Amino acid sequence: MGFPNDSGNPGFFPLFLQVTCNCFTISNGEMQDVGVGLYPSMSLLNHSCDPNCVIVFEGYQLLLRSVREIQIGEELTISYIESLVPTSERQKQLMRQYCFECDCLLCQNQEKDAEKLAGEEHAWKEVKDAVNEVRYPKSKEEWEQILARCQNLLSSNTGRLPDTNIYQLKMLDCAMDACINLESWEEALYYGSRTLGPYRLYYPGFHPLRAVQLMRVGKLQYSQDMFPQALETLKQAYNIMKVTHGADHSLMQALMEIKEQCEAVLYRAYALYRTVIIMPLLDSDVPHHANRNAGLLEKEKEEKIKTIIKWFIISKSRRDENTPSEELRKESLDISLLPCLSVKYF
Ligand SMILES: [Zn+2]
Repeated sequence: MGFPNDSGNPGFFPLFLQVTCNCFTISNGEMQDVGVGLYPSMSLLNHSCDPNCVIVFEGYQLLLRSVREIQIGEELTISYIESLVPTSERQKQLMRQYCFECDCLLCQNQEKDAEKLAGEEHAWKEVKDAVNEVRYPKSKEEWEQILARCQNLLSSNTGRLPDTNIYQLKMLDCAMDACINLESWEEALYYGSRTLGPYRLYYPGFHPLRAVQLMRVGKLQYSQDMFPQALETLKQAYNIMKVTHGADHSLMQALMEIKEQCEAVLYRAYALYRTVIIMPLLDSDVPHHANRNAGLLEKEKEEKIKTIIKWFIISKSRRDENTPSEELRKESLDISLLPCLSVKYF
């Protein structure tokens, strides 16, 4: 085995190139790279930086899924590379790794390149170097070092780099990962929430990375008892993931499980809200109750809401025993009826 030799035998090198050009990076449920594999029929797919299909994995099984309507005869495309980087970098990477020049619409228009590199150049270059240096940490101490570096850079770049700058975005992602590994849930949610706007900008429509990011943020909100917000975030993840992963995917099953748990807690809270606040008010039509309820004081209302919240928090630790009854499920739940629950107390 070796590089091309004088005898005319092409040797190993062309074969090596063919393999590296046709390999697929296998990712886990959270879209983290875990290996590479050869899937010969999939190697026939051409590249577009704005493709009509995506590839997701279920274990080692590769799933090709369409993410928009495809006309009869239209070519199926996938993106060979990370589409987040600006046009010139995508072009360089495609030439280096796959030996071709991309002329897709995104490359022609250089769309969103300005946003991707917004902010002070020397600041994002420093962040870019720092992000590129990160290797997957193996210990708690290494995660702590990474988090400290992220915190330093993020605070020193306040006002100099918007979160839409892709290197700043990568740094926020990195800080979120570090916090999750160090079990600093509140801080993880803080960084994760900041990434959602840029993710929406760069991964519009149906993109698996956005679905996974929404799911991660939704789980963090759920773990911190922010149930209405968690439900909203998980619903957004669900709407994208049913296209990018499909209903049978294990990640989708996990998402549906946590979404249902979140709904169950909210159904219970709503039921209690009805019993304590709404029903007494409806009873006010009855003269006997009129005086008592017509003047339900704001302070009194607040006390009752606090009681609900307490119950709500306690029920969280026992939520398995508190799944809603069928009867309760049939009642339509309008989260907007819970303004006091959604913002003020969570
Ligand atoms: Zn392109």
